Amino acid sequence: MKKILLIHTGGTIAMSEDHQTGAVTTTQDHPLLQDQAILNQFAFVEEKVIFHLPSPHITPAHMLDLGKYIQSRMDEFDGFVITHGTDTLEETAYFLDLYVQTKKPVVVTGAMRSSNEIGSDGLYNLICAVRVATTEEASEKGVLVVMNDEIHTATYVTKTAALNL
Ligand code: ASP
Repeated sequence: MKKILLIHTGGTIAMSEDHQTGAVTTTQDHPLLQDQAILNQFAFVEEKVIFHLPSPHITPAHMLDLGKYIQSRMDEFDGFVITHGTDTLEETAYFLDLYVQTKKPVVVTGAMRSSNEIGSDGLYNLICAVRVATTEEASEKGVLVVMNDEIHTATYVTKTAALNL
């Protein structure tokens, strides 16, 4: 099985909805860290929470830290998956596409519904991202964005709908 480094940066995919107020926020227990057993069916997955931020709070300095971190772990893994808020996901994906020097798969994913909302797309998108990151076909493609059963290149992807999956 391939070795994948899964790096969490925050966003809706890493948030939970308060069912009383409807507010979607970060919680003390990171919701994505509970899914390790499921992800390990597809790869040996090591997880790292590098940030826990809504993506409008991600600055170029965060992007650079993320890029340096991926580069520093490059030799240890076959592929990389990054979870990220969707508002600025395309900016981080594009930055990583320019910055990270590798032929290995680097896949960014997110979610439109938080972890405990009905029909949450987080775990499904994450599984898809891990599966893409384990395939040979994802090599030498630059950074990819996987969401909602689609694989995009970081160069061209953009968020056009604020409500659709
Ligand atoms: N506001 C969230 C973010 O970008 C939206 C999302 O993740 O879909 O962090």
